[in-house]
Amino acid sequence: MGPFKTDGRKPFIIAGPCGAETREQTLETCRAIAAAGLADMLRAGVWKPRTKPGSFEGSGTRGLAWLAEAKTQTGLPVAVETASAKHVETALRYGVDAVWVGARTTVSPFAVQDIADALRGVEGVGVLIKNPVNPDPELWAGAVERFAAAGIPHERIALIHRGFSYFGEYRYRNAPMWHLIFGMRARYPELAMICDPSHIAGTRRYLQEIAQTAADLRYDGLMIESHVCPEAALSDASQQVTPAELERLLRGIRWRTDEGENPEFARTLEKYRREIDQIDSELFMLLSRRMEIAERIGEQKRDNNVAILQRNRWREIVENVTARASELGLSAEFIRTVLDAVHLESIDRQNRIMNK
Ligand code: PEP
Ligand code: MN
Repeated sequence: MGPFKTDGRKPFIIAGPCGAETREQTLETCRAIAAAGLADMLRAGVWKPRTKPGSFEGSGTRGLAWLAEAKTQTGLPVAVETASAKHVETALRYGVDAVWVGARTTVSPFAVQDIADALRGVEGVGVLIKNPVNPDPELWAGAVERFAAAGIPHERIALIHRGFSYFGEYRYRNAPMWHLIFGMRARYPELAMICDPSHIAGTRRYLQEIAQTAADLRYDGLMIESHVCPEAALSDASQQVTPAELERLLRGIRWRTDEGENPEFARTLEKYRREIDQIDSELFMLLSRRMEIAERIGEQKRDNNVAILQRNRWREIVENVTARASELGLSAEFIRTVLDAVHLESIDRQNRIMNK
């Protein structure tokens, strides 16, 4: 069994400060987290990747010594961020149980390869791979493959979803883009998927709702930042919570089961699922027929030298369908989203025909 698996019922919880700042802060935070009995692993960064120089860049090896003490005092395994082979070698000397690859490192194939090479032949140590800062699942998958190729078995690797950078204003510091995660889970079903609400939210206020979404989506665990005195934290102050707040947050999450225990429920669910499968299959058959007709229209437009996009016609389609929104019990926004996707595909098909 890998270091991130639990009995399959209990989610895997990693908690600890963003950074190990002082011996007292590290030990007090870790002891309080452990005392609540909900965490499976402690975390603390000792090398902090900061946007600008001059910010708190971590306590380095001193921090590793405090983390090693925290491990002895609490009996919990510890994880630390590593961004280079040197970091890995140093962290291993202090007995860390897992290393995590930060979001700014996952984007760098050279750095990931260095870290993977440094772990070659090292037994038992876990690797947590954070999603890259940009929404590129291939980079994330590339990191998984580099560690696997260095001989780290999948049961010792877990993925951490910490959200993606984007330009502009948004509710959260990083966009979760939950749909990208479904793709990674389908690709690597055996890897634990852990959500990091702290770095998605960027502020304490949204931790609970993000953690609950992760639970609703059957994530395998959470990584949450906690600090004995969040306001005074040297990094990520606005998103950290006290160990007491962390406990309240964790106890407030409703974790879902895959299937209920009631056989009647299971049968009803099965029946509805078959209906959904049938409807999906019909939907896509219809869409396929619609695309065939769009192609016929494309041929006509090509032979008559007519432009693909005819605005009046498109407006008419949107109006016709949207007029039935309330009768269908669908929102106008939803209808618009579906129509736009269908329209894009039709244009794409006609484009190919007209420019063949
Ligand atoms: C962290 O976990 O403190 C951290 C720096 O995370 P990320 O790489 O997700 O920004
Ligand atoms: Mn942080």
